[in-house]
Amino acid sequence: MPRPIEALIHTAALSHNLGRARELAGGARVWAVVKANAYGHGIERCFEAQRLVADGFACIDLNEAERVRALGWRGPVLLLEGVFEPRDLELCSRLHLWHAIHCEEQLEWLAAHKVLWPQRVFLKLNSGMNRLGFKPLAFRAAWQRLASLPQVEDVVLMTHFSDADALRLGQDGIAAQLAAFEAATADLPGERSLANSAATLRHAQRPLGEGMSVAADWVRPGVMGYGGVPDYPEHDAAYWGLQPAMSLRAKVLSVQEVQPGESVGYGSAFVAERPMRVGNVACGYADGYPRHAPTGTPVLVDGQRSRTLGRVSMDMLAVDLTELPHAGFGSEVTLWGRSGVTGALLDIDEVARSAGTIGYELMCALAPRVPVRVEP
Ligand SMILES: *Cc1c(COP(=O)(O)O)cnc(C)c1O
Repeated sequence: MPRPIEALIHTAALSHNLGRARELAGGARVWAVVKANAYGHGIERCFEAQRLVADGFACIDLNEAERVRALGWRGPVLLLEGVFEPRDLELCSRLHLWHAIHCEEQLEWLAAHKVLWPQRVFLKLNSGMNRLGFKPLAFRAAWQRLASLPQVEDVVLMTHFSDADALRLGQDGIAAQLAAFEAATADLPGERSLANSAATLRHAQRPLGEGMSVAADWVRPGVMGYGGVPDYPEHDAAYWGLQPAMSLRAKVLSVQEVQPGESVGYGSAFVAERPMRVGNVACGYADGYPRHAPTGTPVLVDGQRSRTLGRVSMDMLAVDLTELPHAGFGSEVTLWGRSGVTGALLDIDEVARSAGTIGYELMCALAPRVPVRVEP
């Protein structure tokens, strides 16, 4: 018997959520961002649902790009960070990958490379995040250089926002970077790509230069495609019309009656103040559940809200059954996503917030030992 825990991937939600990105983005094309193994959901599991809506697949490493090609996708595939060493360019040629150019090294590698056919590159502007990309002056020089290379067919202008999900230093989150992008690119031809999930949800309709919006030519929705909300708790999934693409469910393995003054779990981190019924659930931090989730982190027991108690162990965690007299051995516990019993929802972002992190981290951390089932 496998342990009573499983993750479900809801494929209809994947198509629905990317469809939301498409609606918000106006006429822009949509990259389905499938880095980190499709944010923990599994590239192969998500592919058919995502291809119904996506215009291309955006990856971080070559292995992911190879997997998308192996699934039979012949459309655009983008390496968001470009190549990591010169010989990666051979695979870019062979697999027809589009790739970011964010630094001089990548530019020189391409200039020295014998391509099979001219390549499409995404030239990245560092508009203020100071992670990847050329500063504005160097950006313009890099554009000139790329435009003169026989290896290059087309240059798309790209940047990435640091604060699209919130205010920045008390002001509009993207205004400064937007102005930097506009100033650096105003007279350059070519397509543009700026928006991640947060910018697609919050800013897609804002103007960018002549007749264009922040959605520009390509949006790059990642987490929203999986039902995660970049600006939680200001907004939640229901507000943005997003559906969870992953549910993590386990069962109650044992029930303990606990008297006042008795404790639960490692470190006696929870001490009962009244008689309680405690369910121990087949899910722990070795399954990807966050160990930092404190007492009170929400769960659904047979679809009804309850809370965790005490420390999360490697293979188990404890939940409060005191107010749920019908719950007991074998009851379903939804750690995040949709209950299989009632269909009730528990936002992954709410669980993440309780544990001091973000929904992105929880979905990406789903452990390999958890069996995964795909359903519509
Ligand atoms: C990860 C990533 C995205 C998607 O980000 P989300 O916040 O998940 O939407 C978009 N663009 C780049 C360059 C990225 O690295």
